[in-house]
Amino acid sequence: MAYRSLMEIRTDPHPILGEGKEILHYSHPQHTLALISLPYLFKCMGCKEHGAGNRFKCLTCDFVELHEFCALAPPSLKTHSLHSQHPLIFYTKPGGYLRSRCDVCGKNTKGYAFRCSTCNFVMHPCCAELTWEMKFPVHEHTLKLLSSSISASGDTDLGCDECKRKRSGYVYGCRICQYHLHAVCAKNMVNGLHSNGIKPPEKPNKIGRAVMGAASHVIVGFFGGLLEGIGEGVGGALFDTVAKKDVQ
Ligand SMILES: [Zn+2]
Ligand SMILES: [Zn+2]
Ligand SMILES: [Zn+2]
Ligand SMILES: [Zn+2]
Ligand SMILES: [Zn+2]
Ligand SMILES: [Zn+2]
Repeated sequence: MAYRSLMEIRTDPHPILGEGKEILHYSHPQHTLALISLPYLFKCMGCKEHGAGNRFKCLTCDFVELHEFCALAPPSLKTHSLHSQHPLIFYTKPGGYLRSRCDVCGKNTKGYAFRCSTCNFVMHPCCAELTWEMKFPVHEHTLKLLSSSISASGDTDLGCDECKRKRSGYVYGCRICQYHLHAVCAKNMVNGLHSNGIKPPEKPNKIGRAVMGAASHVIVGFFGGLLEGIGEGVGGALFDTVAKKDVQ
């Protein structure tokens, strides 16, 4: 865990799997959560992102599951390798619609997030597990974040060797060969998806899209000019729907 050595932690910083590790978490005070490993996809109740493998799960309530790093997130980070200039505060609720895009992976924050106490920097708890220099199971060499991509808010020109797409957010590069890896793709090696052979479900399914289409005029009317700040996720789906309507 990238930041554990820097921070005081609420619970045992080295939970051991298979020894009945349980915590009482403020998000679900009625039952204890057990640290278990299941090879299936789950949606974290805290950050609203996906995970697989290790998780804190309520054994009574099926839907209550948290990433290990979300459940054990410290209330603040004095410093972080991806934002060393200011302390970061852990928030359990997302901020306003205008500034919720994670600086590291480029996706919106919809739940738990670390926010800078001074500037606009924000990142997912999963992204806080990434460091400036890191080794990933998909490449033999240690990768470094490319400084040229740090301030880029739009898509980068560097193709990612994992997803073969162009996406926003930070990009890791290899100094030895011409290998590149998006931070957003590197997340899947932190949240357990990669090691469990699960592809992240990113696009809304057909039913979700149909519902979104029916409701889009209401939502568009409601948010009006704020749409631009929503970005990926719900905003992205809205843009798709709106764009399609314009064409028809
Ligand atoms: Zn989470
Ligand atoms: Zn429960
Ligand atoms: Zn992120
Ligand atoms: Zn800052
Ligand atoms: Zn990628
Ligand atoms: Zn390499």
